[in-house]
Amino acid sequence: MKVTIDSKSGFCFGVVYAIEMAENILVNDKKLYCLGDIVHNNREVDRLNNLGLEIIDHKRLKSLKDCKVLIRAHGEPPSTYEIALKNNIELLDASCPVVLKLQHQIKEGYEDISKIDGQIIIYGKQGHAEVTGLVGQTNGEAIIVTTEDDLEKIDFNKPIYIYSQTTKSPSAFQNIINKIKEKLNKIGKSSDVKFVVHDTLCRQVSGREPQLKLFAQDNDVIIFVSGTKSSNGKMLFLSCKDQNKNSYFVSDTKEIQKKWFKESSSVGICGATSTPRWLMDEVAEYIRQFS
Ligand code: SF4
Repeated sequence: MKVTIDSKSGFCFGVVYAIEMAENILVNDKKLYCLGDIVHNNREVDRLNNLGLEIIDHKRLKSLKDCKVLIRAHGEPPSTYEIALKNNIELLDASCPVVLKLQHQIKEGYEDISKIDGQIIIYGKQGHAEVTGLVGQTNGEAIIVTTEDDLEKIDFNKPIYIYSQTTKSPSAFQNIINKIKEKLNKIGKSSDVKFVVHDTLCRQVSGREPQLKLFAQDNDVIIFVSGTKSSNGKMLFLSCKDQNKNSYFVSDTKEIQKKWFKESSSVGICGATSTPRWLMDEVAEYIRQFS
């Protein structure tokens, strides 16, 4: 049985940057706080935890003083920087440049659209750290759209600027855009109401989807390795499943079942932007024993 690891799967540059920053600091400091999981992968978080990284939440941040705290790739809202300033906390900012650019775009968009009494729409997951950071650029006023039902929150008589969380699926974002256009058409406002679409998807994720689909077609069985909290993990896994019904989502070797490989001659291993390469190697090694 041929076992292949997808060469394009694994950490994106945003995650690599945050983890390298943490590792470099821990060489000397031995102890470092990180606000939220540094990466949506428990095994990698455990590894960094053993090096001295402690994951904290926002409640704990408020109780800390005179220390260093790492901001992960997802970024943070302005309120986090205010707390740090008040409590003399040194923030080590590993926000991904792609997310920082998006925060900046939304801030500018908010200032612009406020002058014409419009609305900022963010297509993303309510409660996701990146989305919280984005909403923070609008004084908490942005409308979060996660599903089509949330479109009811929009006033279709007022200007609309829409942005997407970086890791959403391009086709799902397009679907939401189409639904908004349909609603505007239905009420006869498509030419009166200003509707501006900002394509803010991260190419590190959306660029992987077409290539991953081919990888899924090329193998009899697909083992998709990811933490369950990873947004792009869920999205990319569904793309694999769509192409190959013998696709399985696992977070660890313990979840792998021997019966999945009966009558298969090729197994492809792939993962999310938060999946460490060492974990995919571990999974490959585990599966090779079934050959
Ligand atoms: S997926 Fe894209 S936006 Fe998110 S951390 Fe990676 S490079 Fe940055």
